[in-house]
Amino acid sequence: MSTHFDLIVIGGGPGGYVAAIRAAQLGLRTVLVEKQHLGGICLNWGCIPTKALLHGAEMAHRLSQMEHLGFTAQGLDFDIRRLVKRSREVSAQLTDGIEYLLKKNNVEVILGKGSMVGKGRVRVDSAHDSRELRADHVILATGARPRALPGISGSDSRIWSYFEALVPETLPESLLVIGSGAIGSEFASLYSDLGTRVTLVEMAEQILPSEDADVSTLVAAQFEKRGITVHRQASVSSLQALSHGLECTLKFKDGREQTVAVERVLVAAGIQANSENLGLEALGVDIERGFIKTDQWSRTNVAGLYAVGDVAGAPCLAHKASNEAIICVERLAGVEHVKPLDRSKIPACTFARPQVASVGMTEAQAHAAGRDIKVGSFPFKANGKALILGESEGFVKVIFDRHSDELLGAHLVGPEVTELIQGFTIASSLEATAQDLIASVFAHPSLSEAMHEAVLAAHGHALHY
Ligand SMILES: Cc1cc2nc3c(=O)[nH]c(=O)nc-3n(C[C@H](O)[C@H](O)[C@H](O)COP(=O)(O)OP(=O)(O)OC[C@H]3O[C@@H](n4cnc5c(N)ncnc54)[C@H](O)[C@@H]3O)c2cc1C
Repeated sequence: MSTHFDLIVIGGGPGGYVAAIRAAQLGLRTVLVEKQHLGGICLNWGCIPTKALLHGAEMAHRLSQMEHLGFTAQGLDFDIRRLVKRSREVSAQLTDGIEYLLKKNNVEVILGKGSMVGKGRVRVDSAHDSRELRADHVILATGARPRALPGISGSDSRIWSYFEALVPETLPESLLVIGSGAIGSEFASLYSDLGTRVTLVEMAEQILPSEDADVSTLVAAQFEKRGITVHRQASVSSLQALSHGLECTLKFKDGREQTVAVERVLVAAGIQANSENLGLEALGVDIERGFIKTDQWSRTNVAGLYAVGDVAGAPCLAHKASNEAIICVERLAGVEHVKPLDRSKIPACTFARPQVASVGMTEAQAHAAGRDIKVGSFPFKANGKALILGESEGFVKVIFDRHSDELLGAHLVGPEVTELIQGFTIASSLEATAQDLIASVFAHPSLSEAMHEAVLAAHGHALHY
């Protein structure tokens, strides 16, 4: 095997494998170094297996509602091990697909741990040997891992990270989730739907801290209605092992304390970049709070060295990683007219029940940016399709610049909004104005009509509310 390449990619997640495929398509001799599993966290321990489990949880919810549609059933049973097995099978199917795609595109794959030993020089250590590769360009796509909470994480096997929460052998009777970002909220929703008593603890003023306040309020209300206990402005100050679980002491911002006894604790308090042990210090690579600093083309401060995906910072999303990777590769390969990634147009989704999806500024961010705005909102309870589905909680909220009519933000909560958001993302990418959206025809009866009505509402003339 040759040891000189045009491009070496370290890390085979959605940042790394997409970079490698695109580079090979552009004619670059490319090698991908992966130390554990092709597909990265996303396919093996993130996006895909969580959604496969959430699909099962959604089914549990639907079955609980079936009498409304005239069905009754007896003897229904549920085995968490079978749902977990299916989730692992879906992951495996997709990671096999990545292996096939890399092969098809003539990307050389080396299983081993990569680290920089000089500019354009990468050492790969595997179980059998160690070798050095050279390339004109090196992309770091090493991703991230769960952020450990000092004094809490790792001290007891009943304290989980997302790894353990994805493969439970039995369902815990009770679970306390620390952190209510997308990951924490999805697990809270999932376990609650499967019958676990869930407590969700969030340090910030609102759950889903980066979402619009109206969306967060509705999700918290829905969670509480479902029996999830939600604590805001609270943190877990200590944990004590009991014979059958853990006693968690919660400390609230106002000084109050409360103890909660649970069978399991899930720490979902963010992630930390995999930027250590890569030889970056010796090369003088700029790193900030663990994340590799990059410019708009994913270049680090060292010539020929790039970083994409989670290791290069927020938003830590698979589609951000892949899009960053494509732009980085096209730019370094000399493709013309490549545009940098516009971070204001990256959608974010939480696949809890209710689902949440957003793109662009929240109302608070628009005010803070000094924008003069028009806001429109439309509830799903006035949408025919949502009523048909029996999923009428939620709304679509849109924010426009009052003068230019530019779409600044869209915030959706409710049925299938993780699919609907793409309509606003495309509109925003094409710089559609409110008038363009008003003039668009939306099929009836569809959930997407709520998007149209929200835009009409921002202009004072919603038709159905
Ligand atoms: C529970 C959970 C749910 C999520 N759900 C979603 C979702 O629904 N949608 C979404 O967009 N995002 C989701 N994410 C986030 C998403 O998984 C990440 O943003 C995405 O995986 C980042 O891709 P990446 O390529 O940067 O890194 P990763 O996917 O982390 O891949 C990095 C790869 O690099 C390898 N590696 C690390 N160091 C080395 C080394 N030295 N040598 C060789 N290989 C190395 C690792 O083994 C890994 O395979 C979720 C994350 C979690 C944890």
